[in-house]
Amino acid sequence: MISGSCHCGQVAFRIDGEIPAQLTRCTCSFCAKRGLLHAYYPPEQFHITESGDSDAIYRWQTKLVAHHFCAACGCGTFSDSPAFKPDGSWDKTTRRISVNARLFDNFDADLAPVEVIDGKNLW
Ligand SMILES: [Zn+2]
Repeated sequence: MISGSCHCGQVAFRIDGEIPAQLTRCTCSFCAKRGLLHAYYPPEQFHITESGDSDAIYRWQTKLVAHHFCAACGCGTFSDSPAFKPDGSWDKTTRRISVNARLFDNFDADLAPVEVIDGKNLW
């Protein structure tokens, strides 16, 4: 089990799962500015345990992805996204949660292996 929270603690979560063998860094215009590292989970493994009034959402481009962040401290927390296949298709049903691994408790995301996805050229 993994737990984590934003900087101020108003948004906290629990994941019924393990830290992936590789985290993901994306080069798209949004991720490059935001600087977080993604850990992906099926929605049923991800549970918000604390959200106060500060859970906020940013959407851009296709608006299909809900990028959640804490409106109090500004940390990107998680993104609720269609589970796109590598070719960009989607079955219109399956979703995927990308959690900001930098928020995990007792974990140094900078020491973890990272895979880079070329979001800058993919979308
Ligand atoms: Zn916060």
